[in-house]
Amino acid sequence: MCLRTYLPRPSKITYLASNGDLYFKGNIMPIHRVNPENQSSLQDIYATDASQHSLPKYRLPKGRTEPRAAYALVRDELMLDGNSRQNLATFCTTWVEDEVKQLMTEAVDKNMIDKDEYPQTAEIENRCVHIIADLWHADKSRETIGCSTTGSSEAAMLGGLAFKWQWRKRREAAGKDTFKPNIVTGPVQICWQKFARYFDVEIREVPLEGDALGLKPQDLRKYCDENTIGVVATLGVTFTGVYEPVEALAKELDAIQRDLGFDIPIHVDAASGGFIAPFIQKDLVWDFKIKRVRSINASGHKYGLAPLGCGWVIWSSKEDLPEELIFYVDYLGGNMPTFALNFSRPGGEIIAQYYNFLRLGWDGYTAVQKACSDTAQWLGAELAKIKQFEMVYDGHGGIPAVAYKLKDENCGFTLYDLSERVRMRGWLIASYPLPLNRQTTVVQRILIRHGVSRDLAQLLLDDLKRAIDHLLENPVPNSTAKPGFHHA
Ligand SMILES: *Cc1c(COP(=O)(O)O)cnc(C)c1O
Repeated sequence: MCLRTYLPRPSKITYLASNGDLYFKGNIMPIHRVNPENQSSLQDIYATDASQHSLPKYRLPKGRTEPRAAYALVRDELMLDGNSRQNLATFCTTWVEDEVKQLMTEAVDKNMIDKDEYPQTAEIENRCVHIIADLWHADKSRETIGCSTTGSSEAAMLGGLAFKWQWRKRREAAGKDTFKPNIVTGPVQICWQKFARYFDVEIREVPLEGDALGLKPQDLRKYCDENTIGVVATLGVTFTGVYEPVEALAKELDAIQRDLGFDIPIHVDAASGGFIAPFIQKDLVWDFKIKRVRSINASGHKYGLAPLGCGWVIWSSKEDLPEELIFYVDYLGGNMPTFALNFSRPGGEIIAQYYNFLRLGWDGYTAVQKACSDTAQWLGAELAKIKQFEMVYDGHGGIPAVAYKLKDENCGFTLYDLSERVRMRGWLIASYPLPLNRQTTVVQRILIRHGVSRDLAQLLLDDLKRAIDHLLENPVPNSTAKPGFHHA
């Protein structure tokens, strides 16, 4: 065996080959022996045994896998997911500061239900409820009450349940039947249809007539009656981003009470608007300033800027939340009141919500929401110049978003084709029909969130224009682009 080629030359070497072992002296490069035991930790992850065979996907693998290899396996699979920042269909947080990630990691063991073990996390939740109640002008002379949830869906269920219980109590006190509760809404997010079905309430979703995009005061008389547990007004309608006129709806319900005697409360589904209006639409009257608004929900993980898994619901007063819905948990230590559909749930998002409140303050939230809104309005103005488009919502007066439709359905492409085409560049833009009775109108909606900068919006606009040019030059025969979008 010749090892000489490994040695630097010329070198001052003493070569002692007495028994076959080699000894070197002088200024030479060290030669390391390979220890087979160390192999896996030295090797590149993609050259380890673990990366050479595949693991079963739908059964528990028989054996163990080295953590580094298992991690790489999972992480690599997730590469095939979309890039969330380019997802312009979602309202949800897709960008957070590093400090949020750090707090989330540090809070990985905090269980929100365990308020006795983690009293400080519970205190942070309590402070958030106060901050939000204040944002929404809760009457300080009354005992306002609220809690965190996993999102607006759970918050909506709790709001709806409180309505149902209060209505039943009123009916029973008046000696009337309680068989047929109904809830009156405009075009609502699916969580209200879930509430209605899961909790056995009839949903009266007022259809859109003419060019309407939301519930109108004049609709109410036709749809409300003595069995109406409440009216839902949406601040930031899912399909377009517009606000429903809460104040005008409340006035009409006042008139209905005067004329017909039904005292019908309002719940505002402010999933996105709840963290926008207080900062950039200060003159809009929509919250607890209106006496008829009994409860409001919002998604902390949308424009509240918290990571996913955070919602809020607040009742204007303790009397609006029936005591029967509150459970007292004593087997975790302490005796804690809870109103929730879940039991265990992570505390990190609530901690991160509080971090954002401290970190940004009024000025920071205002700056962030204003930047989003300015970008949406700029994009709306640019899209309005595209001759195939007609704006449905141009970003003014509602949430930072735009929605548009085709001026002419026979212009050579559909919005579904366009969604597919820009997907090639990684953009996810939703196309879908409006709800009843405007289901023949297909719209495309773009949401501008924290982290979607003007620069990014410009890149998107360029790609949209290029995609339109391409589709006009290369029409898609027998286009198979199909609706397949779910609102989130
Ligand atoms: C997003 C949204 C919901 C559902 O909220 P989650 O936080 O995703 O559960 C409900 N209502 C409206 C108006 C929404 O925009």
